[in-house]
Amino acid sequence: MPKGKADLIVGLGYGDEGKGKITQTVGAFRQIGIRSQGGANAGHTIYLDFDEFNLERREDERNQEGREINTHTIPSTIVYEHTRNLIGPDVWLDPTRVNGEIEGLRSQGFDITPKRLGISNLASLVLPHHILEDRAKEEGNQSLGSTKAGVAFVARDEALHTDIRANVILQDNAVDLLFRAAFDGLIGVGASDEEANEKAKKFVADTLALKPYIADTVNELHELLEQGHNAVIEGAQGAGLDRRFGKHPHVTSSATTTLGLLRGAGLSHKDAGTTFGVIKMFPSKVGGGEFPDRITDPAILKVLEGEEGAVDAERGKTTGRKREIGWLSMPLLRHYVELNGVDELVLTKFDKISKLAGLATKYCVVIKYQKVKADGSTVEVDQIPYALEDMAGYAPIVQEFDPWEEDISGVRSFEDLPSQARVLLNFLEVRLGVSIGMVGVGPRSDQIIVRSDLLGKLKQSANF
Ligand code: GDP
Repeated sequence: MPKGKADLIVGLGYGDEGKGKITQTVGAFRQIGIRSQGGANAGHTIYLDFDEFNLERREDERNQEGREINTHTIPSTIVYEHTRNLIGPDVWLDPTRVNGEIEGLRSQGFDITPKRLGISNLASLVLPHHILEDRAKEEGNQSLGSTKAGVAFVARDEALHTDIRANVILQDNAVDLLFRAAFDGLIGVGASDEEANEKAKKFVADTLALKPYIADTVNELHELLEQGHNAVIEGAQGAGLDRRFGKHPHVTSSATTTLGLLRGAGLSHKDAGTTFGVIKMFPSKVGGGEFPDRITDPAILKVLEGEEGAVDAERGKTTGRKREIGWLSMPLLRHYVELNGVDELVLTKFDKISKLAGLATKYCVVIKYQKVKADGSTVEVDQIPYALEDMAGYAPIVQEFDPWEEDISGVRSFEDLPSQARVLLNFLEVRLGVSIGMVGVGPRSDQIIVRSDLLGKLKQSANF
């Protein structure tokens, strides 16, 4: 039997593209689900149309209301009984947050056991002082829009080779090692002895609670692939936030592109299966930085921001922050398709376009930018400036598309979409030179159109 492959779910925006839902869609056909970079600074929401771990659900058993599941560090495939779920070596592991997630999932009826969840012994631990340092930075005058999960500070320690790895938990003197690291760290950032003692003790207890889950996930993963099982890796954040290729300094601390996803799991390029590049029809951004594609029409923003508390409202799930919303940019998207080696493009929140019907502004796609040069003259460009350069001074040039009025949340095939929708999809496929494999038509897990040959391929490769 040939070695199995790992499909990659990568965000082509600034995060919040709906990767959780796509991971879940692909995960229905995979036996291994992996999170391999980022940490509790990510948040994924899926909105299940089934109540139990149950893949074979009949139409009349579907939960039309949906059931909201939030994950941060645990892969979204945890909702399936058939998956082994792994947190890989490059994930920043905050023990308190992971325990909270385990409890939350259990309270929603999911069976979380060491058989179903493995945490890499190589992962770096987020220590209590990392979080205090992150908070102090964000609340001071050096804010970069972080989620205050301590990630940049554990990444700093990794760069200094002073990070504490999860394998410490397995050592005989784990209690002493963990307490000392947490206590000294807290004292180092100005905590009182009493505070440091209290926080360090809690940290030790939370960390030791994860002991049964700590595993050599890298060797295990290769063994499972050797046995012919297939995996899906759920990306966190998006290409626009990659620590090297994003818009510096408004970037995250991990490598968010496909090679980062593979590396973070302990895999090589040879293990890559299909790369699904996920982008929302209305890309959004939190945390500051230049965003020339930003939508400014208040009528459109009102429709897109959604009701507060709605599952698909444009608010960050990790922090509740309101997102800035923009138009799809072809120059940017082409760049991210290239950077990630996307095989199948996945468009989410396609259903929202119908909400623009009747408004003054149509659905816009940014096809080029007008750049003002130093001498005041202008030039049209269809490539973004390389990521390190500032995009200030770039004005988007858009092409307009007619929205449709029909509610498409019940549509399950491309042929049944309104003609305006098909015109837009065709335009995007031709412009980007990549096929559109899936289109999201609502927040619920079943509200997705999957191209029939792709669905066939996924089903065929589900060898269990
Ligand atoms: P992630 O971080 O990339 O996994 O994305 P989030 O979880 O932050 O955001 C995705 C949100 O959008 C979730 O609440 C999904 O249920 C919702 N969502 C995903 N796809 C669609 C879609 O096609 N239409 C609508 N209306 N909502 C969607």
